[in-house]
Amino acid sequence: ATPTSIMAGSGRAAEFGILFKGGEHLEAMQGVQVIVLDKTGTVTKGKPELTDVLIEGMAEAEALGYVGAAERASEHPLAEAIVAGIEARGVALPAAEQFEAVPGYGVRAVVEGKPVLVGTRKLLEREGVGYAQAVPAMERYETEGKTAMLVAIGGEYAGLVAVADTIKASSAAAVARLKDMGLDVIMMTGDNRRTAEAIARQAGIGEVLAEVLPEGKAEAVKRLQAQGRKVAMAGDGVNDAPALATADVGIAIGTGADIAIEAADVTLMRGELTSIADAIAMSRRTMANIR
Ligand code: ADP
Ligand code: MG
Repeated sequence: ATPTSIMAGSGRAAEFGILFKGGEHLEAMQGVQVIVLDKTGTVTKGKPELTDVLIEGMAEAEALGYVGAAERASEHPLAEAIVAGIEARGVALPAAEQFEAVPGYGVRAVVEGKPVLVGTRKLLEREGVGYAQAVPAMERYETEGKTAMLVAIGGEYAGLVAVADTIKASSAAAVARLKDMGLDVIMMTGDNRRTAEAIARQAGIGEVLAEVLPEGKAEAVKRLQAQGRKVAMAGDGVNDAPALATADVGIAIGTGADIAIEAADVTLMRGELTSIADAIAMSRRTMANIR
């Protein structure tokens, strides 16, 4: 590999908003066989919106006050969507007395003396709160590709909130192109299986790793590498950083968290998955010229 042609290749990539941190990453890109795509903010727009509220056994505004107060201290994109949606419904938020983010599960807070939980099935199970009556509605939202989160107030199931995050306009075409180039495409997410599969179907992705806890993302990349495959991982979140560092090529979305960009080998300034196909094509061309 001549340094000159690699520099020229990196320069060309940069014109397309594809920033390689070093020539070795441009070289590595052409050998990639599997692309693992984070769901939220990578395949999808990462701009979730609150679409559904289902409260039981309490006035809706009162319950939403507890939910909004609990989520206000969280920096998760889901939390921002929930708070914005509740405020748009004209509900004033009380202050949370205590707050704890439980990564991959949701939030736990104390609001006006009451314990409040918002998050996954596993979160409520961990805390010993039953939610059997929520299951049919929850599954319906998830089949629509929405993320449904359970709400518990005062130790009792109190309802559901659901948010929708739609796929980027270019995601399906980009996935089709990656497959045409001979790559295996896998979507990975902490979100539940039903939601993940609905989103993957829209993007044309057949293989899904769902309900992966934050610390499990890097492990999943290692398992693929243990099969002897060269793995690229694309993500935008704080949770994705260890997996980006583990992958043979870590790809950060330019709008993502700083820590994800730091951990990655390439940053896509345009934030579109089409840039991944472009990056591989440029890498193949650069390396072909060298040989
Ligand atoms: P992703 O891999 O899609 O970024 P995360 O690992 O961050 O997902 O979260 C996994 C799941 O945990 C979410 O789909 C959601 O159900 C729940 N969760 C995470 N953070 C919150 C929060 N602030 N409020 C409610 N639920 C949350
Ligand atoms: Mg993400």
